[in-house]
Amino acid sequence: MKYILSFAFLLAVITSRADEGMFPINMIKKAPLAKAGLKVSTDEIYNPNGTGLMQAVVQIGGCTGSFISGQGLIITNHHCAFGGLEPYSTPQNNLLEKGFLSTDSGIELPMKGLTVRILTSFLDVSDKILAGYDTIKSPIKKKKFLEAARELIRKTESIKYPELQIEVSEMLPGKSYMLFRYMLLKDIRIVYIPARNIGEFGGESDNWVWPRHTGDFSLVRAYIGKDGKSSEYKKDNVPYQPKIYFNVSANGLKDDDFVFILGYPGRTFRHQPAEFMNLHEQYQLPYISELYEWEINTIKKLGKTDPNFMLRNEPKIKQLANVMKNYQGKLKAVRKLEQYKIRKEEESKIASILFQNTNPQTTQKYKETLAKINGLYAKTYTNYPKYMWYNQLYSECDMLGIAKNINDFARQYLLVDEKGEAKLIEKYKQLLRADYKTFYAEYDLVFLNKMMEDGMLMKDANTIPSLLTLTIKKPFAKWLEKTYTDSRLLDSTYVFDLMDENPYKFTKIKKKDGFLKLAEILQPDFYVTDSFQTAMRTQLDALMPEYVDFRMMALGQQFIPDANRTLRLTYGHIRGYQPYDGTFYQPFTTVRGMIEKDGLEADYVTNNMIKELIKAGRYGPFPTKDKNDVPLCLLYNTDTTGGNSGSPVLNDQGQLIAINFDRCYEATVNDYNWSENYSRSIGVDMRFVLWTLHNVAKGDNLIKEMYIEGGNGK
Ligand code: GLU
Repeated sequence: MKYILSFAFLLAVITSRADEGMFPINMIKKAPLAKAGLKVSTDEIYNPNGTGLMQAVVQIGGCTGSFISGQGLIITNHHCAFGGLEPYSTPQNNLLEKGFLSTDSGIELPMKGLTVRILTSFLDVSDKILAGYDTIKSPIKKKKFLEAARELIRKTESIKYPELQIEVSEMLPGKSYMLFRYMLLKDIRIVYIPARNIGEFGGESDNWVWPRHTGDFSLVRAYIGKDGKSSEYKKDNVPYQPKIYFNVSANGLKDDDFVFILGYPGRTFRHQPAEFMNLHEQYQLPYISELYEWEINTIKKLGKTDPNFMLRNEPKIKQLANVMKNYQGKLKAVRKLEQYKIRKEEESKIASILFQNTNPQTTQKYKETLAKINGLYAKTYTNYPKYMWYNQLYSECDMLGIAKNINDFARQYLLVDEKGEAKLIEKYKQLLRADYKTFYAEYDLVFLNKMMEDGMLMKDANTIPSLLTLTIKKPFAKWLEKTYTDSRLLDSTYVFDLMDENPYKFTKIKKKDGFLKLAEILQPDFYVTDSFQTAMRTQLDALMPEYVDFRMMALGQQFIPDANRTLRLTYGHIRGYQPYDGTFYQPFTTVRGMIEKDGLEADYVTNNMIKELIKAGRYGPFPTKDKNDVPLCLLYNTDTTGGNSGSPVLNDQGQLIAINFDRCYEATVNDYNWSENYSRSIGVDMRFVLWTLHNVAKGDNLIKEMYIEGGNGK
């Protein structure tokens, strides 16, 4: 950082602002927390020699959660846990809709496959990883070098700490690396999931929207073996006793009060070049949002005649709709805010700052780096639509997945020796089982038909139409119908028997079976497309450290790494905002709003018990400012993204006051750019959680497990 510059006009445009920042845990001392309003010392959040609030935060699936009792009780979002009820639901007894309370039956339901991670310690390993990195010239070698160095450290640590999960995370590509040690808990059980008309009140209409009236919370419990060790589900496992858990505050907050959040944000793109913005604006965001919209509508249409299919696909629809609306919001905002143009201007401003403050060689080097980046993006665009098409085709179409796996198996079977046969058969049976499990012919074939039609229209990827005509005779729908009737691949027993008895026969069948032929013909082109995109990414990744260096040099500051699913702290204040001219959004909502919305739209169906409680004036037992209402959601200007779902929102004392669950529509663009004008996150007030537990769930036993300041605590 040799060149500290003072270009006030420019810095105002391109440096990070007041409350921006997802601070990695090793950088929290750099955040002006005390000035912003934090009353406890940062050592109480993270203390390398003892315990800190950090240890009360967990990563739960793709979300965040918090310990709120000494008996392993974890609070997270409804939308992070409700899918766990799917295996226990039937159309007759639909727990997804009704919700679940363990104290009704005394049984807490195991959530298969869900794990919880607790960060125990971390270490900066940048020097170890990067020793010798700068001398390497080739991008592929750079990439391999980094991968090998990270893996070596991970493995060495895993031997030292066999009971922990070790991860070496890239903070700033080619610049900064951190080693994280996690304890993994594998027996997680559902304690309380509110009815859907509480946990998801407002449904898709209100998703990514303020004002909000959603009680998006759930309670689960972590268990461990009797020997104190992490264990898969076992009936006699015991509740995990965390070293530290959050105290809850029932005192609430007011406008402009300080808050901070600890959590595991997934992905942000603050340090990417302008062309990256263009790639998202032109390709990624429109393509995915339109395709998901089509998928949702198709599933819903099929679900009308098949309630079982609908039930199985509820969580999937929710996921698709969530991404769709987020991408629509982002697309609207990046266009309106002209993010591409702004980043382009930023890039040329950086060139002028470097020119005025460094030497001609530095400016020249920057321009060369930028030209290389722009050139690589220009190449990336050439087949990016096809790349996205292939990715969606293979990830969504089970039939093609089945055909591809059978082809791969048949090919490899010819090469494997006798010893490897059984292993190969088992490997592919496992892959196929996963495809068959989700395969639903009516949907799968309609999807395939759509993708083939889209493929034929692809202008910049001529290979797809010509490849398809080699296999498919138009019209596709007819070809599909016939192939579907003729193919025996839909019969998994037939396929598995053949794998055991006569695998050579697949090579013969391939000549006749339309799906196998289609998969075989697309495979080489998919491979070429995928490898091309990987090569572009590898070369771009290799240029990123330089690009970031130049930016830092020009801006005279150290960057906060983009989100990468590692623990972060973000802080801010309770604050409303102006979404458009003439409108100001207040930062609090109450249950009254839920009742007001009742019946206005299909998504607004207020829970009957809530209606009755409000009618009867039962607002207690926890004190609220407005004695004739119950606080519900709140708004604050912290810096969050996906993965922050379920994160604890803490007051200046580090007490839990809300559970983060969403952002406003205008804030979806936050992943590219934080702004005081629109970056607002949404949480559910802990007083609503307690009110619901006491009045709706009759779960006082759960409340008793917690320490509640302003309630059962002090
Ligand atoms: N509701 C958001 C999601 O599902 C959670 C957090 C966020 O993105 O702000 O991804």
